Amino acid sequence: MMTQLMQGKRGLIMGVANDHSIAWGIAKTLSQHGATLAFTYQGEAIGKRVKPLARSIGANLTFACDVEDLDSVDRLFAALAETWGSLDFLVHAIAFSDRGELKGRYADTSRANFVRTMVISCFSFTEVAKRSAALMSGGGSLLTLTYGGSTRVMPNYNVMGVAKAALEASVRYLAADFGPNRIRVNAISAGAIRTLAGAGIADARLMLTFEQRHAPLRRGVTIEDVGGAALYLLSDLSTGVTGDIHYVDCGYHIISMPHLSALKAAEDVNSAGPEPGGGVVHVLGGLERGKVRHRDDMIAAIHVMNVAGHPG
Ligand code: NAD
Repeated sequence: MMTQLMQGKRGLIMGVANDHSIAWGIAKTLSQHGATLAFTYQGEAIGKRVKPLARSIGANLTFACDVEDLDSVDRLFAALAETWGSLDFLVHAIAFSDRGELKGRYADTSRANFVRTMVISCFSFTEVAKRSAALMSGGGSLLTLTYGGSTRVMPNYNVMGVAKAALEASVRYLAADFGPNRIRVNAISAGAIRTLAGAGIADARLMLTFEQRHAPLRRGVTIEDVGGAALYLLSDLSTGVTGDIHYVDCGYHIISMPHLSALKAAEDVNSAGPEPGGGVVHVLGGLERGKVRHRDDMIAAIHVMNVAGHPG
């Protein structure tokens, strides 16, 4: 359903890398509801993908901006001030960490990568929020993206979880700073989605499938799901909401263990006795003996065993 909820509102989208990016899902939705958009891209190689995407939804303003280079951030906001003069909303969907440290133990994070991860994935939001707020004399809405690895341990998410925790705290402090100026600051905590950034986390595919199978809605989120929530947070539908971390993860964050049918299937297989060849062969053995009856139970059991470790 199209509305004119964003009609007359101008916003900056930071963090599109390609048409799988969460920022692109948000941009498409906002554009469908009447927003006028400008985009940034990190470097010319990504610019080659972002510019045609922007044009496809009628956006002609694109700026190079690497948040590690503060001069490029300042140039971006100077250009925005000159072309638009004011801004109604900002989407910050930027994160980076050395993929060599998105596996193994958090304890082994290096100082250099800790600092770089924090600057790009956390502090850049504070820097662009401050510059955006200076262009929001009539009020506005700032939005960033986070992940549930900020509050609970996700394997391999490591330093990014620590950066996201700091990012979420920044959302609350910025909301307090800018609230008197009618500028709202919120984050969407998205479930796992297959994107370039997501692929940097070791074994991301396994964890993505686990989330999909065990979330209350029994599916993964799409960039369009995130777009819908962003529309709410960036439009006047949410004028009373600030400092919030809004989960768009098909409910995964409320779950503390896999659903019972998966647990029972795993237990049935375990009680069928050890089987050589690891978890999959083990479960297939259970299937043959009639212990595991349904394909879905079998897959769920494999996931439980993948996470809990193989028995026997
Ligand atoms: P993506 O790879 O499509 O987007 C990440 C973006 O960050 C890219 O456009 C990249 O160019 C940009 N970026 C990285 N370093 C930068 C720098 N120095 N300067 C400017 N831009 C830089 O991946 P995505 O999954 O759409 O990520 C967007 C946001 O969503 C990130 O904050 C990510 O942590 C968050 N998120 C992702 C997931 C997921 O499962 N994919 C889940 C929850 C939250």
